[in-house]
Formats: sequence, structure tokens, C-alpha cells
Amino acid sequence: MKIGILNGDDIGHEIVPETVKVMHAAAQATGVRIDWEPIPIGRTAYDSLGTTMPADTLQRLAALDGWLLGPIGHMAYPKVPEAPNPHPILRKHFDLYANIRPVKSYPTLKSVHQGVDLVIVRENNEGFQPDRNVVAGCGEFRPTHDVTISVRVITRAGSSKVARAAFELARSRRRHLTAVHKDTVFKLGCGMFVEECHKLAAEFPDVRFEEAIVDTFAMRLVMTPQRYDVVVTTNMFGDILTDEAAGLVGGLGMAPGLCAGPTHAMAQATHGSAPDISGRNIANPYAMIMSGSMLLDWLGRRNGDAAAVEAGARIDRAVQRVIQQGEALTPDLGGTGTTSGMGDAIAEEVRAG
Ligand code: ATP
Repeated sequence: MKIGILNGDDIGHEIVPETVKVMHAAAQATGVRIDWEPIPIGRTAYDSLGTTMPADTLQRLAALDGWLLGPIGHMAYPKVPEAPNPHPILRKHFDLYANIRPVKSYPTLKSVHQGVDLVIVRENNEGFQPDRNVVAGCGEFRPTHDVTISVRVITRAGSSKVARAAFELARSRRRHLTAVHKDTVFKLGCGMFVEECHKLAAEFPDVRFEEAIVDTFAMRLVMTPQRYDVVVTTNMFGDILTDEAAGLVGGLGMAPGLCAGPTHAMAQATHGSAPDISGRNIANPYAMIMSGSMLLDWLGRRNGDAAAVEAGARIDRAVQRVIQQGEALTPDLGGTGTTSGMGDAIAEEVRAG
């Protein structure tokens, strides 16, 4: 399979190479052949090629099966047309409508809760996000100096697609899906999202389906996260709830993600580019490495390639063992290890089985 390597910015230059190291080890151990294609993006691309998103990027990505995208530090980009934030463009262009974000606690790691094993499926391309909910212009505008209007877009097709991805995921797990919304207030927008979820519930009678109002859900997530399996929600609610959920199990370094669409998938951790710790070899590579594992699993299932599914599972097992051993962990996990040391330890465990 062909997989792109897009480092992104700041800690992306540290955690993405560790992810490639681990995926390479997993591919070798399982007989999966990966052709890697490094593609410049972000600040590095701007400095060398004059744009954060070189003109041939979309074309090059289209020829791949999927890619790793490191975190993007777009807030630090120069405010010029040549320096757009690349990731909304990628999510939109490839219709990466489902942002799948697992949250898992580990018994040996400090965590607000134990026994957490849930996945939030966040709609990725519409909702309130003004940089991607319209095809031209921007979904947020200011008619006068003192008035701002933000537009939220909810479509039947978008809701149905993300709900289907969530139902399918729930079917492969504990068969429990919670749709999070606020149709008590957003009667039309959230109402349409929930209607589409209900239509699909009829197609998945083996999945226990329930609804939760977003504010109640936010509270329950903090108090009893163990009661959830798969959660599906609209873009903005998902953005907030995934960070909240990551906080329950050790912070942003523990929050992987996969943006999946009809033809491609992009491994992208939930966290940002963490400029405060960049260049110090202390960033936690867990989220990016687990995103890479998710990409292998997704590609394996899609192509009926059992070896690729096993490569992903092998990474999961290796990560679990390294966390349990506790020796190579980065400072955010209470350890004294380094990014590269943790990557090495995981790659070694991958080779061991
Ligand atoms: P964005 O808005 O782009 O998502 P953000 O404002 O949420 O970014 P992050 O860059 O994600 O900010 O960082 C938030 C905090 O979490 C910072 O203190 C950062 O150091 C920490 N952090 C983020 N990712 C990691 C990681 N992989 N390992 C360790 N700490 C991390």
C-alpha cells in the first residue's frame, strides 16, 4: 500500500518519524509492503516552496491509499494567502467526513477514571466550522463592526454518512451507540442530525441506540465515562468533547484519531502542534502512533487485507506492553523517557510480537 508522510509542524517533526518507525516494523513483521511517500506541508513547505500547501499536494495524495498528517501549527503561519491552514482543505477535498477518536485508560497510567474504552465519532466537514462548512466564502461574517453571524450547516447526507460510520464501528465493538446533540434548542439542525441517526438505527437492530443532550452528556462523561462505547456527534460538539475525553485518560498525548472518507483515510492525532515543547524530544508519540495503527486497520478492513489488520493490532499490543512496563514513557505520562526512546521501545515490542 502507498502511505504518505506529512510531518506537519513543531512536534510533528518528532512524533511522525516515530510513527513511521513503528509502522515500518509492524509491516515488516506481518509481510505488509508499504511504499512511503514524504510530502512537504505546513511551515517547512512555506519556507522551502513558498506555500504551506504546495499546488500538487492534493494530486499526490489522491494517488495514495492514505497518509499520516502530523499536527498543524497554523496559528503561527504568516497571515498571507500562500499560508492557508492545510487540514480543513484535506478533510474537505477527500470528504473525510468521519473523525474517529478513541479514548482509552490504562491501569498503570495516572487517569481520572479507569475502565474507559470509548470512541467519539465526530462529523468532520460541516456544522459550525466556518472554514469548511461552505464551498466559497466563509461561514462566519461581520455585517457591521458590532455584529457577527456564524452559520451552522447540517445536512441529511452528512449526518447519515457519519451516523452509518458510527453504527458500523459500534457493531464491531460493544454494540452500543450514543448520539449526542441538543435538539431541545437546535430543533432543526440537531433535529435533522438525530432524525438521520434514528433512520439508521432501524438498519442496525443489533446495536443499542440511545440519545443524550450534549450538556448532560458532558457531565456524564466526567462522572461515568465507562458507560459509553461509541458516541456520534456533530462537528463542534465533537471538537470539545474529544478534548474533554482525552483529559479523562491522561491528556492530549493520549488522543489518537483517524479522519476517514469514501476513498482515503488520514491518520491525525487530536492534539495540536504543541510549540511549547517542540524540539525537546519529550512529546508523547502515543496519539500519533495509535493513529497510524488505526490507518493500517482501516486500510486492511477496506481492502480485505488481514495482514494489514494484524499490523495495526500488533502496534496496539506493543503499545500496551510499553505502557505497562512504564520505563520508556514521556514526561506527560509521569515518565522520564523521550519521544524517540518511546518510539524505539514500541518498535522493539512490535518486532517481538
Ligand atoms: P490546536 O488548537 O491546534 O488543537 P491546542 O491549542 O489545543 O492546539 P496543543 O498544541 O494541542 O494546543 O497543546 C495543548 C497542550 O497539550 C500543550 O501544553 C502541549 O504541550 C500539550 N500537548 C499536546 N500534544 C502533546 C503531546 N503529544 N505530548 C505531550 N504534550 C502534548
